[in-house]
Amino acid sequence: MLFSMKMRASKKVLGKDEHISGAERILEETSLEDSASLLIKRAISHTKGKPDFIQLKVEQLAEEKILHVNALAVSTAKTTSPEECYAFLVQKLLELDIVRGKEIVDLLLHTKSMRGAILLDVDSLVRLENDHERGVRVTYMDSRENFFPKDSKKNHFHEALVLATKVVNAPNIIGEICISDDPDYQTGYIASLRFGYVRLPKIKPLNYPYGGRIFLYRGKHLEVEKTIDFLEKMPVLVENIPPAPECAKEKVDANSYRNIYDKVATLKEKSLYRTLRTLHSPEGAFVVVEGKEKLLLASNSYLDLTFNNEVKEETTLAIKHYGTSSGGSRLTTGNFYLHEELEHDLSLFKGTEATLLFNTGYMANVGIISALFKNEKAVIFSDELNHASIIDGCKLSGQKIVVYKHNDMEDLEEKICLHAPKAGLILSDAVFSMEGDIANLPKIIALSKKYSLFSMIDEAHALGVIGKTGRGITEYFEDKYLLLAKEELTPDIYMGTLSKALASEGGFACGKKILIDYLRNTARSFIFSTALTPASVASARASLKILLKNPSLVTKLQENTRFFCHALETYGIVTKSDSAIVPILIGDEKRAQEISAWLFNEGIFLSAIRYPTVRRGKAILRVALMASHSHEDLLFAAKKIAEGLARFKNV
Ligand code: PMP
Repeated sequence: MLFSMKMRASKKVLGKDEHISGAERILEETSLEDSASLLIKRAISHTKGKPDFIQLKVEQLAEEKILHVNALAVSTAKTTSPEECYAFLVQKLLELDIVRGKEIVDLLLHTKSMRGAILLDVDSLVRLENDHERGVRVTYMDSRENFFPKDSKKNHFHEALVLATKVVNAPNIIGEICISDDPDYQTGYIASLRFGYVRLPKIKPLNYPYGGRIFLYRGKHLEVEKTIDFLEKMPVLVENIPPAPECAKEKVDANSYRNIYDKVATLKEKSLYRTLRTLHSPEGAFVVVEGKEKLLLASNSYLDLTFNNEVKEETTLAIKHYGTSSGGSRLTTGNFYLHEELEHDLSLFKGTEATLLFNTGYMANVGIISALFKNEKAVIFSDELNHASIIDGCKLSGQKIVVYKHNDMEDLEEKICLHAPKAGLILSDAVFSMEGDIANLPKIIALSKKYSLFSMIDEAHALGVIGKTGRGITEYFEDKYLLLAKEELTPDIYMGTLSKALASEGGFACGKKILIDYLRNTARSFIFSTALTPASVASARASLKILLKNPSLVTKLQENTRFFCHALETYGIVTKSDSAIVPILIGDEKRAQEISAWLFNEGIFLSAIRYPTVRRGKAILRVALMASHSHEDLLFAAKKIAEGLARFKNV
């Protein structure tokens, strides 16, 4: 007596069933028990992650209805890359008198996550299966060799050969092409009764999780049902399966990837999985995303200079003059006159003796903080909401790190007293990147002087944004505390980035000459990385020039913040900001994500900021304003945000 046994394993991800694994057998009664346990073992230890639903179905088969066929002859092509495989496939399809092979291969490459197969008329390229999402799923097949299964592992070669043999024996099917969707199985195949089963090694890169299959149909469309019936319902036992060729043992141990799949699935479950949005326009107050124009409330390009004509012209000139790359690190061959000019300009702008450029703000923080106390013991005091690049710099320094409560100067002083370090540093963002609030600079400087510590302030979101003329945090406090002397508002190190208000990319440190000389010799992210491109340097210089010439840009940005906070207030949304970042507290990660997704559909592009960028359960909608936003844009945004908040209530 023979039975069919089918296993399907899946997992709910974001409310949808995600397929993990599936397998089937035709078995004698005596093997049922062993086989059930092996298939379940296979389901729960799949590289795609742990299932939360496993279905096992066992049915008796009418033996007289079982079709017995011989396995296809097996050969292996000498392909070594996906491109070679595609060319080989087109050639083989020609042998089957299929002239539109290239289009068919293209279709195969774009089936991605379809679980079933495409049933394709090879001449008209019309898809014949009823449900294009599901495709045709071949079931009820196995080989005699499987009657007494020994282990739970999938034998790709064996299972694919059984399936292909059944498929090419179906009425009107002249062949099959297939790429496995198992991330660790790189061998595809083409099969037909004419030339057998041809294996195609390296048809996809390792760990690529997509695949697909196409059944090649040539015949009357009226007979499609008959074909599908055969594929889905006719039990087939394949006989004389050859042993797997030596080269079929290329499957690598995928255990290391199993954890990655699990972690990705967990991120998705917790609404913490991030995807990229693609822009098709320059970054401005409005952008084209996924083909539609959106009001952009998420950019760090605060002065909206990335498409400014002067900036573009200066950048183009720099490329014409110096080319596209600096070709080496600053300490070897990559130090152009341009780099030195920008350092000079930044020193003047910040009122410091010297400046050192880095390739990004991230690299500046990591490089400065890890270099500062080389060969010494120190304690670094860091605000709990400091940017990730500061945190990473702290870790890399190998020093003792003491985190103080956000902008809480009492807590900071208590902790300084507790640790009483011989050497140390107080580290803070000037404008906190998610919350938009401003560090208590006067007190930080006072404490650093009192306890002989260095002070360093990250001005990524301050430069071009706060202070009367956009010079940053010192200028901001100078205006508020007229009696304080400049030194009382000047940290040892200003760190900044060129990637936000200055419409370019890169980072920098400004401070005393001796300190900058030291960093030039010790900061590893400076020493061991190719210098900024001429284009990046030129665009930052041009933007800085514009900022100096047009303080009204800064005034407009500051006025926009006041206007927008007021507009939100009229809807009962209370928020406060003195920078260009306006946070709207949501709390729950999922709710924040839902509101931002809804706003996106309504034409507003802003970010839902979630853990780990902010603390768990403290998700925010982060609005970032630009000088180029009009009042009308901001009124529209406030209205829509209020609508979004009302629509997705807290659960
Ligand atoms: N510091 C802060 C406060 C930031 O917000 C950022 C960027 N978001 C950086 C440093 C890193 O700068 P960059 O993007 O230039 O690497």
